[in-house]
Amino acid sequence: MEKTTVEQVSKVIDIRLLTNSTFVLRFEKNDISFRAGQYLILGTKNNPERREYSIYSPEKADYLEVLVKLVELGSVSRRLFELKGGDPLYIQGPLGFFNLDNSEPDAKHVFIASGSGISPFHSMALSYPEINYTLLHGVRKLDEGYERNHYVKGRYLQCTSGEKGSEFFGRVTDYLKKHRPDPLAHYYLCGNSGMIDEVWNILEDNDVSVKNIHAEVYF
Ligand SMILES: Cc1cc2nc3c(=O)[nH]c(=O)nc-3n(C[C@H](O)[C@H](O)[C@H](O)COP(=O)(O)OP(=O)(O)OC[C@H]3O[C@@H](n4cnc5c(N)ncnc54)[C@H](O)[C@@H]3O)c2cc1C
Repeated sequence: MEKTTVEQVSKVIDIRLLTNSTFVLRFEKNDISFRAGQYLILGTKNNPERREYSIYSPEKADYLEVLVKLVELGSVSRRLFELKGGDPLYIQGPLGFFNLDNSEPDAKHVFIASGSGISPFHSMALSYPEINYTLLHGVRKLDEGYERNHYVKGRYLQCTSGEKGSEFFGRVTDYLKKHRPDPLAHYYLCGNSGMIDEVWNILEDNDVSVKNIHAEVYF
C-alpha cells in the first residue's frame, strides 16, 4: 500500500505558457526528492480541493515543475493557472509507481502519451537521456508538441489527428496499427483511459507481455 504524505507549502516561481490552454507551473522543491514518473497532489490557498499532477521536471533539477492542461470548467487546473510568482502552493507527495523499469539496462522503452500525459515522460527523458526511448505523443494540433526540442533528436514523434505536418497524421493507435509494436520493448502509457485501453489491446494483440506494459490513467 502507498504511504500517505503530509501536506507542505511550497512557493510558486513562475508559469510558462505552452499554448493558450496548457502551461508549466514551476515551484520551489523544498526537500522533496522523487523518481521520474511520480506525481504530486496539488492545491491552492482558501480551497480544499486537491488534484494529482505528474512531475514534469527532471529528478536533479533544483525546482519542481508540472505541466497542466486547463480543463474547461475545471476547478483546480483553473486555480493553478491563476497563480503568480510568490504565491503559496500546497503539495503532497511524491506518490505513485509509474517509473522506468531499469531491470534490463539495454531495454527499448516506448512512451505513449495523449495530451498532458506527456508529463512523466518529459521527466524520464530528461532524467535519463542515455536510455533507448521513443516517445509517441498524441494530440490534435501541431502547436501541442509541448517543448519537443527538449527530447533527443529523432526520439519524439508527434501524432496529430486534426492537422497535417507532424511526424504522423492520425492517432497514436493508427500509428501502432501501421508500425507493428516490438514484443520485446517496454511500453509506458499515460493519459486518458480511452487511449490507454485501445493501446493496451493493440499491444496484447501483438504479443507484448502484460509485464512489459505500464500505465498511468489521468481521467
Ligand atoms: C495520477 C494522475 C496524474 C495526473 N497528472 C496530470 C498532469 O500532469 N497534468 C494534467 O493536466 N492533469 C493531470 N491529471 C489530471 C488532474 O488530476 C485533474 O483531473 C485535472 O487537472 C482536472 O482537474 P480540475 O479540478 O481542473 O477539473 P475537475 O473539475 O476535476 O474535472 C472536470 C472534468 O475534466 C475531466 N478531465 C480531467 N483531466 C482532463 C484533461 N487533461 N483533459 C480533458 N479533460 C480532463 C475530468 O474527467 C472531469 O470530467 C492527473 C491525474 C492523475 C490521476
